[in-house]
Amino acid sequence: MEKPISKKDQLYEGKAKVIFSTDTEGVNIMYFKDDATAFNAEKKGTIENKGVINNKISSAMFRYLEGKGVKTHFVEELSEREMAVKEVEIIPVEVIVRNITAGSISKRLGIDEGIELSSPILEYCYKDDDLGDPFINDYIIRVMGYATQAELDIMESVALKVNDLMKEFFDERGIILVDYKLEFGRYKGEVLLADEITPDGCRLWDKVTREKLDKDRFRRDLGNIEEAYEKVLNKVIK
Ligand code: 5GP
Repeated sequence: MEKPISKKDQLYEGKAKVIFSTDTEGVNIMYFKDDATAFNAEKKGTIENKGVINNKISSAMFRYLEGKGVKTHFVEELSEREMAVKEVEIIPVEVIVRNITAGSISKRLGIDEGIELSSPILEYCYKDDDLGDPFINDYIIRVMGYATQAELDIMESVALKVNDLMKEFFDERGIILVDYKLEFGRYKGEVLLADEITPDGCRLWDKVTREKLDKDRFRRDLGNIEEAYEKVLNKVIK
């Protein structure tokens, strides 16, 4: 029988998660908190039960994607708030994928939210809280050494594959996948999809009512945040 994974030291505390080392080689534990932040942590709060819900949603999404051949850092769901993940070295590039206009692209380009794009848009941000995750491009990524061209090629093709898979997954469950952020990590010579896939980092709208079921409820003070996250969970694990 395999030895159970047990938690050792805290390695890192982020805005919504804590990472712990374990006594299993190459495996960390990701602990999901209820804390929520927005606008580069200018707005802070807690969403009751968010950690429990997000652990379940993210585990279900990684299981689904792994089943479709996407390599991820997911190992197993350990408890209500804990997930075992491969000990990746996070690539400091956030990959944003957009199917419908919303949020910062609407602001930047002066266009309404809710316009369907003719094909997905990929954007890159440099993952740095102090700088507010600034917008970067592939030249900056290569020249500054944030990722190699080979890694970028993988990130781009995986992001587009994940987009096809997740768009269909959510569509079948009555949810529109508007946009989201992905992160990748290096692990034993491979590039794996990492971090989390939850309503904290995805815009998800109800297909019929267009009700927002994601962190925009917190960002924009729309209320009923926990209910919205729970609605997503119930549809994801249906
Ligand atoms: P926008 O650029 O419109 O603010 O965000 C685009 C998408 O990426 C949204 O779904 C948003 O939730 C996600 N996103 C962008 N940056 C971050 C980030 O630093 N953290 C999280 N959790 N999500 C992000």
